[in-house]
This record gives sequence, C-alpha cells and structure tokens, in this order.
Amino acid sequence: MKHDVIVLGAGMVGISCALHLQRKGLSVAVLDRRAPGQETSFGNAGMIQRETIAPLEFPRDPAFLFSALWNRRVDVQYHPGAVLRSLKPLLGYWRNSAPARHRQISSEYETLIALSLETHTEFMRQAQAKHLIGGTGYVSVFRTERALHKAFKLADAHAARGVQHVKLTPTQLADMEPSLSIPCVGAVHWTDLLAINDPGALVQAYATLFERQGGQVQTGDAMTLRRSAGDTWQVQADDGSVLEGQRVVVALGPWSVELTARFGYAPPMFIKRGYHMHYAPLADRPLHHWIADAQNGYLICPMAQGLRLTTGAELADRDAAPTPRQLAQAEAIAQQVFPLGKRLDARPWVGARPCMPDMKAVFGAVPGQPAMWCNFGHGHQGFTLGPITGELLAALMTGAQPRVNVQPFAPTRFV
Ligand SMILES: Cc1cc2nc3c(=O)[nH]c(=O)nc-3n(C[C@H](O)[C@H](O)[C@H](O)COP(=O)(O)OP(=O)(O)OC[C@H]3O[C@@H](n4cnc5c(N)ncnc54)[C@H](O)[C@@H]3O)c2cc1C
Repeated sequence: MKHDVIVLGAGMVGISCALHLQRKGLSVAVLDRRAPGQETSFGNAGMIQRETIAPLEFPRDPAFLFSALWNRRVDVQYHPGAVLRSLKPLLGYWRNSAPARHRQISSEYETLIALSLETHTEFMRQAQAKHLIGGTGYVSVFRTERALHKAFKLADAHAARGVQHVKLTPTQLADMEPSLSIPCVGAVHWTDLLAINDPGALVQAYATLFERQGGQVQTGDAMTLRRSAGDTWQVQADDGSVLEGQRVVVALGPWSVELTARFGYAPPMFIKRGYHMHYAPLADRPLHHWIADAQNGYLICPMAQGLRLTTGAELADRDAAPTPRQLAQAEAIAQQVFPLGKRLDARPWVGARPCMPDMKAVFGAVPGQPAMWCNFGHGHQGFTLGPITGELLAALMTGAQPRVNVQPFAPTRFV
C-alpha cells in the first residue's frame, strides 16, 4: 500500500497532521498501535487553552522550591531517580524559565496559541463534533488575597493581548456554581477557551473525518519503521500488510524520541506525568464549569464519563509504576469543596506530557534523515496545539508559506 505520507501516531497531533496533509491533496495513512485518541490525548483535561499565551515555566520562587523538596505538594511531585536521569533537560528548562528568556519563548509560543481556537473550530465544524463542547471557559479559584492579586494582574496583562476574562467575587462564583463550597477570595473566569467533555472522542471524530475523506488508519507498531532499498519508508501493520510512504511523520507524543533516536535524532525530552479519576456526579449537585483549585494544582472537569479530576505534574519516568499520591491528596481536598460521588474507574489513569526544555513543540524536517518529519513535544498544551502545528508542518512539507514564523520550533535547535 503506497502513500505519499505515513503519519506515525494517532493522538491529537498525529491526526491533525494527517488531516492537514490530506487537505494538501496528498494520500495519507496513519499508523498507531491503538485506536485514535486513546493515550495522552484521551486522559487530559480537555481544554483548548486559548488563554495560555505563556508556557508553564519552572517555578523559581525559593519558598516554592523549598516546599517542593519534601515531595508532598499536590501540584508537583517527583521521583528522585527520574530527576537525576533527566537532569540535563531539566537544567535547560530551569535556564529557559529565567524571566527574560521566558518572555522571549512566550512571544513565540503565543503565535501558535493565538491560532489554536480557529483551527480547532474549523475541524470541529467539518467533523460535526461541536456537541463535544462541554462549556466555554474555565474558572480558576484562589484562596488567598496575594494569589488572587497576582492572578488579576496576569488576567489584565492577557486582556491587553486579546484574551478575555471576567473577575469574580465569591458571591458571583457561588451564583454560577451553587454546589461549590471552596473557601475562596475570588476567581478568574477565562471565557475564551473551549472545554471538551470527551477529549478522546474529539480525536476520534477528527480521525473519522480523515477516513471519510479517503484517509487510511491502521494499527501496527511504529518501531518497525525502516528505510527500503527504493528509498521509501516502510512500516508493518498488524494485519500483515506493509505501509509504504514517500515521507514519514513521527507524531508519537511521549514515545517520539524512542523512534527518532534509532535514526540518529535524540532531542532532550522529559516527562511530566499526570493522573485522572472519574467520579459519579450527584444529580442534585451539578457542576457547570471546569474548575481549577489554582493553589492546589488540580482541576475538576464535568465530562461525559463523569466528574474528571486531573492532577498537576509528576516528574517521573514515562513507564515507571504509577504512584498516584497527588491524586489521593487532590481527591481529599476536592471532596471538601465539591460533592464527588463514588470513584468510577478501577484504577487511576496515568499519562505522560511530552516536554522540551524550551517549552516549545518540535516540528519540521528531522535532521540527517531524508523525508522524515516530526511533530511532538507539546507538553501541557498538545490537545490545544495539535491542529495549528499540524497545519504548519503540512505547509513546510509541501513548500507552502507557513502563516507564522516556524523557525523557533525547528528540530535543528537540538542538533
Ligand atoms: C493530566 C493531563 C491533563 C492535560 N490537560 C490538557 C489540556 O487541558 N489541554 C491541552 O491542550 N493539553 C493537555 N494536556 C497535554 C496533552 O494531553 C498532550 O500534550 C497531548 O495529548 C499530546 O498529544 P500527542 O498526539 O502528541 O500524543 P498522544 O496523544 O500520546 O499520541 C501519541 C500516539 O502514539 C501512539 N504510539 C506510541 N508508541 C507507538 C508505537 N510503538 N507504535 C504505534 N503507535 C504508537 C500512541 O498509541 C498514541 O496514540 C494534559 C496532559 C495530562 C497528562
């Protein structure tokens, strides 16, 4: 089976690349070992985060760092061995989080975030997937005056850059969410973003659109990729067939570098894991919005499968046994602020955010490999950024002019 392009990975990023390449008139096949949208793109908080115009930096506040050392915070925890193994990328992350450097990176990051909503909205329209929108905006709730003041200042700075919000008093919050009993001094309602009530289903809807338009989705192991004698790329599908492509795109999220390293390209990715659990909603105590308990670093999301509680960052090896301590801590706090029903999942879901030291995705031609392209490393916002980075990669691959400067995201920055 010969194609112009084989895309490896059917998460939000891979499927978005496939759709954009198809739009360019290319014949495209996608290969994944699972059905579309079953891994990181399934378990996230489902937010298309137009408001996140700056990527999450390594905190530099000494008080925060001291408290994080004890490894008991709800928002950040770590496995010491994993930190040692990822020391180099983490030091890079630290350096890139210095204020001047972070400002520069944020200005590059913002060029992508600014186009995230429109690229998703267009896909959703074509895929007839707007019913998956669970709400607009999310509400970030603050428990201390100091944190609220900082959040309001940030919100005003964002407003000057076109990101909308509403500042809420505790009474206004109580009117919006009567079942929430969080001891707070105020909240910010970011009104620009879209909250998706089943993130995996959105990827599946995009994949169905891709197939309806003639694309092929196959299951198989991407690690079987090889270069043929005839200078094409070949990969083995589970049904015994061989997919052959003139070009290949590596979009394997947190597994990407495992493959590219085999072909001589090993950029310094590190992993921030996150957990989720679903709880039965109580019929008489509805939750209408995605709620972030900002100072405790967890979210409660009213999703199709139930109330999904998602946790912050765990610096750990991607495949280490799950240690869902943050989930247990967050659950105990969340139970005090909102009535969660019984746990619905047999065990906590764990996923891996694929993070780069400069907080930016990596997309473009893979250095040193003819006809190999990549799109990965989207960290905390891959669900948001899949469609726009897919569009830009497709432009690069077809010699069109990308509509933003793609240089800051070039794979060559890690050579
Ligand atoms: C708790 C949590 C909350 C988050 N919340 C948000 C949010 O609200 N908004 C947001 O924008 N982002 C969020 N993120 C981040 C976001 O989920 C990721 O950045 C994004 O899903 C990455 O997408 P991807 O397509 O690169 O990777 P994935 O979705 O992981 O896709 C990679 C694919 O590669 C496949 N694969 C791997 N190895 C092989 C192989 N050998 N052969 C074949 N196939 C293979 C996998 O099966 C998978 O389908 C969150 C992440 C977490 C963990």
